[in-house]
Amino acid sequence: MKKALVTGAGGFIAHHMVNYLKDRDYWVRAVDVKEPEYEPSRADYFQVLDLRRWEDCLEATRDVEEVYQLAADMGGIGYITGNHADIARNNVLINAHMLDAAYQNGASRYFYSSSACIYPMYLQNDPDVTPLKEEAAYPADPEEGYGWEKLYAEKLCQYYDEDGKLPTRVARFHNIYGPLGTYEGGREKAPAAISRKVAVVNDGDEIEVWGDGRQTRSFMYVDDCVEGIYRLMQSDYSHPLNLGTDELITVDGLVDLVCKIAGKSLTKVHDTSKPQGVRGRNSDNSKLREVLGWEPQVSLEEGLRQTYPWIESELRHAGKAPVAAPVAG
Ligand code: NAD
Repeated sequence: MKKALVTGAGGFIAHHMVNYLKDRDYWVRAVDVKEPEYEPSRADYFQVLDLRRWEDCLEATRDVEEVYQLAADMGGIGYITGNHADIARNNVLINAHMLDAAYQNGASRYFYSSSACIYPMYLQNDPDVTPLKEEAAYPADPEEGYGWEKLYAEKLCQYYDEDGKLPTRVARFHNIYGPLGTYEGGREKAPAAISRKVAVVNDGDEIEVWGDGRQTRSFMYVDDCVEGIYRLMQSDYSHPLNLGTDELITVDGLVDLVCKIAGKSLTKVHDTSKPQGVRGRNSDNSKLREVLGWEPQVSLEEGLRQTYPWIESELRHAGKAPVAAPVAG
């Protein structure tokens, strides 16, 4: 039985990663500063540790072969643009300590979760964006704070791999969404935030949309994300690889799609004083197809048909959404 460590397992993607590995008969140690909020972890052993601390990283990486490093101080656009110092400090401590602890404890392979936020801002000024190829990362001009740290952590992985210390695999995630992800409190991403806003109002009401609604993104369903992580981990490809879809949509389009699924007709009110990130961002998946012989399978509409009802039901049970909210199947 293979032994894996999944870090950040009190959070969204790593919780799904634990389930994926358990379905494949792994023994899994899960680590986070907190337990998962929405359902118990299926990990064989869940440890509460603070991975900014060297000793905690040494403890976490004991006796495991594969390390899936998904712990990070992160959140939606409002959070990552408003907390540069905390995010950059916390994440650089986690990543530097985790890599070296995995190496010192003799792990056989290390996965690192990077982000599309490492791509240069100067390539993302147009909503009709050219999809981003992996090599477009340089000359570097990433998102302040979060993006700079991710890019540096990618480099750390490259150096550990090249110096023969520890084989590393790096994916650049493009907006992952799905059930069991945070949907309120300030750290939620656009699909979850929009689903919440749609769920809490009645048909015919207004909905606040951050920015002018014409900014574009692509989104990947979490099941595809964990499948892609696993395939990359088993591959022999050690360079950073995009992990996202190339199904580009405007934020207004995303609102319309969630409204259609919810069976509600809402009036959009745009607030251009709110942070909205780059104008356009899309994933070029040529390399992903070439390296993994695979690409994401779940369309945005299919993925939102799994995600919206989960968020709506959470809010309804908390008394925050109308009881008779119709949900189209
Ligand atoms: P998440 O916030 O749900 O999960 C991250 C987890 O890390 C949280 O549970 C948090 O408590 C934990 N953590 C933070 N500091 C820690 C510490 N000091 N010690 C131990 N655990 C700590 O986020 P997620 O969406 O699941 O993201 C997982 C990874 O994927 C992160 O590296 C993130 O940067 C990356 N990523 C996510 C997206 C996305 O769209 N969700 C996009 C790009 C990159």
